[in-house]
Amino acid sequence: MKNIIVTIDGPAGAGKTTVSRTLADRLGYRYIDTGALYRAVALAVNRNQVHATDDAALGKICRGLELQYVKTENGLRLLSNGEDVTDKLRTPELTMLASAVSARSVVRRYLLDVQRAMGRKGGAVVEGRDMGTVVFP
Ligand code: C5P
Repeated sequence: MKNIIVTIDGPAGAGKTTVSRTLADRLGYRYIDTGALYRAVALAVNRNQVHATDDAALGKICRGLELQYVKTENGLRLLSNGEDVTDKLRTPELTMLASAVSARSVVRRYLLDVQRAMGRKGGAVVEGRDMGTVVFP
C-alpha cells in the first residue's frame, strides 16, 4: 500500500520527528518534515531583508521559491531554488522567523500547495501542524 499518507502532529518536544523518521523507515515511505519548509521560507525572507509582516513581499518571495526534497547518499535533503539548505535551517534566528512567517496566511497558502504536491504520490509520513486537518484531511 504505497498510496497512503500518514500525518503526525503534536506539541513541540513530543517526539514527532523521531516517530516520523522511524515510521517512514519501517514502511519504506518518504519522510516529509514540514517545519523545514517554513524554515526555508524564513531563510529566504531573512536573506531578502523582508519584514515578516510585509505580506506583499512575503508573497513575492514565495512565488519565486521552488522547494524540493531530494534523496541523496547523505539522506533526504531540502533544496531551495536548487541550493541545499538542509544544514542552514536549525538556527535560533530562523526558529523565531519561521514562527513569525508561519502566522502569515500568504505563506501558509503557498506551503499548502507545496505540501500537497509533495504528498500527492502517497507513500509518505508527513510531520507538522495542520497536516491531518487542513493539508491532508
Ligand atoms: O517544527 P519546526 O520548529 O521546524 O517548525 C518551524 C516553525 O514552523 C514553527 O513555528 C512551527 O509552528 C511552524 N510550522 C507550522 N506548520 C507546520 C510545520 C511548522 O506552522 N506544518
